[in-house]
Amino acid sequence: MNSVTPTRRQYVQAAAAGIGLSAIPVASAQESNGQLVFVYDDSPASDYSKAFPVHREEDAPACVGAIASVVEADDEGLSRDQLLEMQDAGWEVMSHTLEHRAVGPITITEDVESGDERVYVERSLHGGFPGDTVLITDDDDEEVATVVGGESDERGDYLLLEEPVEGSYAVDDGAYERLTDDVLERATKESKERLESMGFDVDSFVFPYGRRGPAVMEFVEEHYAGVANYDYDGLNPGEDADPYRIGREYFREERMSETEITDFLDTVQRDGMLGMFAGHNYADDLTQERIRFAIRQAKQRGIEIVTLREAFAGQGLLDESDTAEGETTQTPTATPTQSPTPTRSSTATQSPTSQTSQTTSSEPTTSPSSGSTATPGTLSSKPTPADRSNSSFLDGVLQWLSGLF
Ligand SMILES: [Zn+2]
Repeated sequence: MNSVTPTRRQYVQAAAAGIGLSAIPVASAQESNGQLVFVYDDSPASDYSKAFPVHREEDAPACVGAIASVVEADDEGLSRDQLLEMQDAGWEVMSHTLEHRAVGPITITEDVESGDERVYVERSLHGGFPGDTVLITDDDDEEVATVVGGESDERGDYLLLEEPVEGSYAVDDGAYERLTDDVLERATKESKERLESMGFDVDSFVFPYGRRGPAVMEFVEEHYAGVANYDYDGLNPGEDADPYRIGREYFREERMSETEITDFLDTVQRDGMLGMFAGHNYADDLTQERIRFAIRQAKQRGIEIVTLREAFAGQGLLDESDTAEGETTQTPTATPTQSPTPTRSSTATQSPTSQTSQTTSSEPTTSPSSGSTATPGTLSSKPTPADRSNSSFLDGVLQWLSGLF
């Protein structure tokens, strides 16, 4: 992979040329009472039937984290035409991968010995895609294995492999498994291409299950301008934000009281922050009333409701040359065309396989949940990889969606 900055710069230019940035208001959150972005994940049909009407009535845009294959299927999920209508109304489409694979590393929970065909893992998310290849690794060694399924027994979740493992991998050495680079590339690059071929402008990425790690981050930084779920802190800087570290807050009733919503928005307003609310429209406790409440509370505080792309443009995170003539209202302090921060590029330049034990131990578990047991954005009930592997992918996704909350 080439260095991140030119790649991203070129990408952003191309993306901007396609979307016509002249339409984008260039004002950072810092200059105003703050900004608020809404993101809805997984592209269920209820994005159109539930959230879209409320946002339209309130004249407030939002974003969809779209699973490319769900939109392509034109079946029970959000259809292409619906999503195009939403995009025409000012919504932003983000990629949530091709088929909702977990693109971050998953911790291995029992030592793996040579000859093992079962690898015990924190969650057998990769078992849902038979034929996928995973990299099994610890500090000392690594090998590639093909997954044939995932199950669980009294010891926990495990992956079933096509061939016995050759090496040995110790939990104490930070053993983990992750999808190999070719699978990660499909999940990131190809999902964007397929969404774009359906007529969508895609700038940002949403990690399935909120799981991320250095390897996938490298692909994401190459192909996207930013992410919408780095962590579960939805209060982001209103200026000079790192577009690859944008966090979110789930605003359904189980996760946030109305007071917590208004407190959150008070902070956004007071400190001129970029707030992000996220949700899943198939969740019963994310009601239209709840969505309307959040929008109106934001409006009452003078908080501007924008898409993430608009927020990035306002912060000068899209190239200056992208903005149309006359759009010169960058804040003096904004730094257009930021190159990645040292912290991030040090992560980004790691080879996909060179995860340190530190990142190994933190990444899989940092995957998002900030101290909550019901990890947001992740399955709250155990997935049934066996079911998914026995049925078509779409059946699996729909089954999974319906069992989520
Ligand atoms: Zn998702």
